[in-house]
Amino acid sequence: MATTAARTNPLSYLGTQLEELKRKGTHFRLRVLDDEQAPVCTFDGKQVINLASNNYLGLTTHPRLREAALEATRTFGVGSGAVRTIAGTMRIHMELEEKIARFKNVEACVVFQSGFTANAGTVSAILGKEDFIVSDELNHASIIDGARLSRAKILVFRHKDLAHAEEQLASVQDQPGRKLLISDGVFSMDGDIGPLPGLCALAEKYGAIMMVDDAHASGVLGRNGRGTIDHFQVHGRVDVQVGTLSKAIGALGGYVCGSRELIDYLYHRARPFLFSTSHPPSVAASCIAAFDVLEQEPERIEKLWANTRYWKKELGGLGFDIGGRITPASETPITPIIIGDGKRTMEFSRELFQEGVMGTGIAFPTVPEGKARIRTIMTATHTRSELDQALEILKKVGKRMGILS
Ligand SMILES: *Cc1c(COP(=O)(O)O)cnc(C)c1O
Repeated sequence: MATTAARTNPLSYLGTQLEELKRKGTHFRLRVLDDEQAPVCTFDGKQVINLASNNYLGLTTHPRLREAALEATRTFGVGSGAVRTIAGTMRIHMELEEKIARFKNVEACVVFQSGFTANAGTVSAILGKEDFIVSDELNHASIIDGARLSRAKILVFRHKDLAHAEEQLASVQDQPGRKLLISDGVFSMDGDIGPLPGLCALAEKYGAIMMVDDAHASGVLGRNGRGTIDHFQVHGRVDVQVGTLSKAIGALGGYVCGSRELIDYLYHRARPFLFSTSHPPSVAASCIAAFDVLEQEPERIEKLWANTRYWKKELGGLGFDIGGRITPASETPITPIIIGDGKRTMEFSRELFQEGVMGTGIAFPTVPEGKARIRTIMTATHTRSELDQALEILKKVGKRMGILS
């Protein structure tokens, strides 16, 4: 019998790359939440004010969502048992999709396992290699991956630059392929809003498909959180609307809204829909309850925006760079504190944590090199005194580290 010869580890290059991250100071350990996702909670055994979650409306712990999840589990069990197209479409999945379609005032809706799979699955299903995708340079990674999977030619335009988007559309005007113009509704790292009216006009002028990823706008912008299409009143002009159920909605999932034909096509061609199991009934039930809460408790969204206005004013007042050269770029509950250097940003984040504030440092490749930041996110459930405490800590650590003068 042959003895197993000592084998050199074929994955050793991963260790080399991790060493490189450690040298640059951007290697991280995962912070572990010990209790609920809430404005004040416990990570790694330490109680902190949480400025890092996407739980905009506090729905992760809303009693109605919790109860809906428990009830669905008791009635329907814990899993769906199959992909949607085989045997995994439960009545509750259909109810959720119908509810979202009514809420968004569109013909139809399909729910995916996540916002990521909704984007990647849709872009790659509706385009092929002879087509073109014209995409904002700061669009979400799931759009970029979907574009790559589609093998369409990718034309990137400068962030929110309509003239450049038009240049890109015009450059392929005479090509036979289809064109998809795509933008985030709210940009996740800077909190600014995509120029939807201008983009819709361009899509119409060049006969392009218009698609918007409204992950950070779902439950945040528009009437009762209907998103940027409602915010800008561009109803009927966006062919493909993507939203997430994982952020303000408080649970997990993504969805695509559009024509009945688009949704039927995605049933047949979107690979995550065809090849990955559907949500447990508890998730669908939680989401249904969440849309009821959006319609019945609008005060949550009002509180979110009141907190947002207060936070931006106070944070800018302390002298932090909150993005934008003259006026702050962010128009939403996402407010970045731009530090620049990745290592310094991670140090700042660690120091804040020691003092009782959870603000996650975000560096390359999530944001461009030299644009590292702490991203803060307001929620409806932060109290004024929690915000004041957090501001005090930010000021103290900012001064100590020489980030504030
Ligand atoms: C978070 C996010 C997604 C992904 O949504 P998940 O439901 O978390 O997978 C997609 N697009 C944008 C712009 C996002 O911010």
